[in-house]
Amino acid sequence: MLAERTALFKSSGTAAARAAAKAAAESGKEIIDLTAGEIWSDLAPTIRVGAIDAIRRGINRYTDTIGMIELREALAQKVSGHTGQVWHADEVAVTCGAKQALFNAAMVLLNPGDEVIIPAPYWTTFPAQVLIAGANPVHVETRANGYVPRVEDIAAAITDRTRAMVVNTPNNPTGAVYGTETLVGIGKLAIERDLWIIFDECYGDFIHVDDAHCPIVSILPEARSRTLIVNSFSKSLALTGWRIGYLAGPKEVISAVKALQSHTTSNPNLIAQHAALAHLLNSDGSYERHLRSHLAGARQTGLSALSTLTRIPVPKATGGFYFYLDVSGLLRLRFGNDEPMTADDIVHVLLTRAGVAAVSGTTFGDPAGLRLSYGVPPEKLAIGLTRLVEVLNAWE
Ligand code: PLP
Repeated sequence: MLAERTALFKSSGTAAARAAAKAAAESGKEIIDLTAGEIWSDLAPTIRVGAIDAIRRGINRYTDTIGMIELREALAQKVSGHTGQVWHADEVAVTCGAKQALFNAAMVLLNPGDEVIIPAPYWTTFPAQVLIAGANPVHVETRANGYVPRVEDIAAAITDRTRAMVVNTPNNPTGAVYGTETLVGIGKLAIERDLWIIFDECYGDFIHVDDAHCPIVSILPEARSRTLIVNSFSKSLALTGWRIGYLAGPKEVISAVKALQSHTTSNPNLIAQHAALAHLLNSDGSYERHLRSHLAGARQTGLSALSTLTRIPVPKATGGFYFYLDVSGLLRLRFGNDEPMTADDIVHVLLTRAGVAAVSGTTFGDPAGLRLSYGVPPEKLAIGLTRLVEVLNAWE
């Protein structure tokens, strides 16, 4: 008999979509998999050298629970440069990916019965972790506003139980980037209503339009004492498997995180820590530039293929590396049938007829969305999207 808590979560929908793609490929079909939340790229040379050097030196012991001091200092410097404020090592915790940073945040900030505002569509781990912490996710719809939350909608969702808001920009799955006005509005609300802001900027390096991504603490320094910045090397260095991320926030939160992490994973993998440190100390930024230009090219290829869709608006794809399609135009065609259709049906048809794997918006709380990753090899992307457009344009 399992604990009641296990009823609160299931394996992530994106993992399930990846598994369906893999199963179809194993049955002999040639599948173009656009489900992954990661970038197809070689390893950064600085990471490779840093890791090999650490292994050659034969180091093998625990580090400080929330990461080596040298790494936390280097990260504090990085956050300082990014935010234009001074940050110190005792305001930074190194974690096993941003996922652990978010989990730690949920566990040290939330009481049972608290509410956390999460704009929808949302990355599924946000509500899952809130539930595991005994709190309740409250979703605020963004679909009618270009996937950016309206400050008044967030204000209307706040109750006496609200304890925190999740702000994920650039957003997974929608690719939306929140502008300064929205961020200032959200920050002011947090101050007025005494709320925490969990600011996830894991995709912050990938902005494809002029209105740049801004850390909320830079544009509203008064919000810093109630903000936790969550970031990771997973996306910015195409390093998903190395499991290295970080959390920056007020010292007392970081100390609580340290105590919690000392009972869960202890320190993040030592070799990954050394690799990240070597990168922070020695990188000239060329790997990041290469990654950004690779993604910018893939985005252009993808947008030109998607511009031939007849009943689906071309996505803005402002940030990150996802195209998020609003497929409500296709679902409407089936109204009147017995079974209401959702993006799940479209995903199924795409997999079986086009050999293209996508993630259904139902995973993200949106029955009319479809997420396609363009972090894949460019030739695969072009073929996959051409097939996808053919099937969706012929949809009846
Ligand atoms: N935050 C967002 C919005 C994500 O999309 C992801 C991964 O997909 C993460 C955090 C977790 O990243 P990591 O691999 O560093 O745990």
